[in-house]
Amino acid sequence: MALGLQRIGYQRQSTPGNPNADAAMSAIDPARTALIVVDMQPDFMPGGPLPVAGAEDHGERLVAPVRGLMESDLLPLQVATQDWHPPGHVSFASSHPGRAPFDGIEVHGYPQTLWPDHCVQGSPGAELHPRLPLARLAAILRKGMDAQADSYSGFHNNHGPNGARAPTGLAGYLRERGVVAVVCCGLARDFCVKWTAEDAAAAGFTSYVLWDLCWPVHPHSDARVRDEIQARGVHLLDRAALADAVAMSGGA
Ligand SMILES: [Zn+2]
Repeated sequence: MALGLQRIGYQRQSTPGNPNADAAMSAIDPARTALIVVDMQPDFMPGGPLPVAGAEDHGERLVAPVRGLMESDLLPLQVATQDWHPPGHVSFASSHPGRAPFDGIEVHGYPQTLWPDHCVQGSPGAELHPRLPLARLAAILRKGMDAQADSYSGFHNNHGPNGARAPTGLAGYLRERGVVAVVCCGLARDFCVKWTAEDAAAAGFTSYVLWDLCWPVHPHSDARVRDEIQARGVHLLDRAALADAVAMSGGA
């Protein structure tokens, strides 16, 4: 049984300058919680075709804290998602004559942002970042392999030609491992991290986003993203709060 926050006298301390953690946090059991490292691939980093914001130091500012979290083994079960598109993928602007990257169109009746070509299967930019401790990953979930459907989320494709969002199998994998909660970090906060965390919550997992260990494509979207993911049942926390929450469970 989880102890009430009042009962153990625990009070969340917000990280200075980060208003993005929930005011109250309950314990996180590391034996039943998976870390999901989303799309930490060079194509989403400086020098790649679709870099997230705020990584002028060639990605190390993004990679180092995720590497530190993985190496800490605070959450021993670690999985990654990997954007992995065939050439000519439906999400590429180059697949739609007359369109430019970041144009919005409809695909299969749903809004689709068009992107620069990125994370093409087998290309160096599609690899998981080599400075991450990849040996710690129990599973790597490749997504976006259907040429006709994008896949922001690690749990479901975006809408496909039949109007459905095909499952990837990640929810079943995690349930078989006894997982009841997931902690998401990585790239990008406003797309693949957001969709992965929201789908996790919809699938019945307690779902967290590590706000300070994910980065957006569009920084101006942060307020909207924060409101939307919280409205969909996702909890926000930062790296320090994660350590606190694991300690509360007796797991660290
Ligand atoms: Zn993609």
